[in-house]
Amino acid sequence: MEFDYDLFVIGGGSGGVRAARVAAGEAGAKVGLAEESRYGGTCVIRGCVPKKLMVFASEYSDTAQDAQAYGWKMMAGGFDWPMFRGKLEAELDRLEGVYRNLLANSGVETFDMRARIADPHTVELADGTRKTAKHILLALGGWPVKPDLPGAELAITSNEIFHLDKLPKRLLILGGGYVACEFAGIMNGLGVQTTQYYRGAQILRGFDEEARGLVSEEMMQSGVDLHLGTNVLEMKQVEDGIWVKGTNGSERVFDQVMFATGRAPNTSDMGLEDVGVKLGRRGEIEVDEFSQTSVPSIYAIGDVTGRVELTPVAIREGMAFVETVFKGNPTPVDHELIPTAIFTQPEIGTVGLSEEDARDQEPVEIYCTSFKPMQQAFAGRSDRVLMKLVVSQKTRKVLGCHIVAPGAGEMIQMAGIAIKMGATKEDFDRTVAVHPTMSEEMVTMRQPVRTA
Ligand code: NDP
Repeated sequence: MEFDYDLFVIGGGSGGVRAARVAAGEAGAKVGLAEESRYGGTCVIRGCVPKKLMVFASEYSDTAQDAQAYGWKMMAGGFDWPMFRGKLEAELDRLEGVYRNLLANSGVETFDMRARIADPHTVELADGTRKTAKHILLALGGWPVKPDLPGAELAITSNEIFHLDKLPKRLLILGGGYVACEFAGIMNGLGVQTTQYYRGAQILRGFDEEARGLVSEEMMQSGVDLHLGTNVLEMKQVEDGIWVKGTNGSERVFDQVMFATGRAPNTSDMGLEDVGVKLGRRGEIEVDEFSQTSVPSIYAIGDVTGRVELTPVAIREGMAFVETVFKGNPTPVDHELIPTAIFTQPEIGTVGLSEEDARDQEPVEIYCTSFKPMQQAFAGRSDRVLMKLVVSQKTRKVLGCHIVAPGAGEMIQMAGIAIKMGATKEDFDRTVAVHPTMSEEMVTMRQPVRTA
């Protein structure tokens, strides 16, 4: 049978764009791609990239004060949100242009509209036209979800936070995951009175307990009004803002409420079930290690598969898909030991197992140190950082590395290489320290603080 395309990709985010352009550019496939919103997807348009620029913006709030402590005569003026937002939007436009160009230059034909699956080899575009393809790749991404509570419609999500006309004076953030904690730090740094409610006992569930404990403490120290064990019961529009009733009995009014209560895969109304693509309990597309769905001609990558919701993982899944399907080299995706950072203030960089998970698996030694870093201590700040290694007693391998510090994301990328290679504690020990740095502690921790 003759198809219009060798590959039709639905979704122009990081994963979809990479797979499309590599299939077309390197494997010579005829590729079509449909995107209903902006090219670049969550990461570029409403996630990682604008978020990181906002982190940078928010971190300057301390600069003048710290510079004074180092002898500079410097005064901070106020933060100009409209000016920053204008620059941010221009940068996102530029990046979207880059993505469009990458696709065009590799010969991918793009359709700026929604597409659905009509049958295992056909997609239907929003204008009613149908395109056939030997393979279909679903890179549909995810979308923020809001809990169903009275007044939930008054809350914004991370999608809207980048486009506010003005910064609120009083903001409530609901949730304790990546997005909630990163935005609590950002908004606090930008001078917004930031309150955070999280239903659990400690933010950042799943990460190393000591690391999340320190981040939570430091966030509170720097001014985030964090309430643990607290959820929103009900919200109402009142004259001077949004009235919020909390499960802790509090009734407070905020100018803006942001829900950061998780994300759901974009699988509704896509025609997936009708053609037999199996979905999991949360609506995610079920795939095998080659990203193949239950329909052999249809593959899926990225957040929509609910595996590891990170851009570099989606990109790898896209590359492995092309390798498998278009280069005749079946390549499973390796999801082990993925280094990652949470851009809270301070940042967490982490790779491998938390102390808690490692302890459940085998006997371990814990090496950990927490101290005031030189740069901030000299400026009179009480900020603390943490460096931690979780080591297997039996193999001596480093099973987990957790860093809470400014620049932890940069540090963990490097530590991640060693750990992925299977480095032992003794390999760390025989590496000479880089002095004076924070990360030198990683190679100078001699005695375990505990064994378990
Ligand atoms: P997460 O799943 O990480 O966090 C959701 C938070 O909302 C949790 O604290 C959860 O609580 C809470 N929550 C869920 N439902 C409710 C409810 N009904 N009422 C109150 N609270 C609720 O989602 P995020 O949106 O923060 O992030 C999604 C994914 O995106 C992450 O898992 C990550 O993979 C990725 N991401 C990565 C970033 C990075 O690499 N730096 C940055 C941002 C996102 P509980 O813990 O109790 O379930």
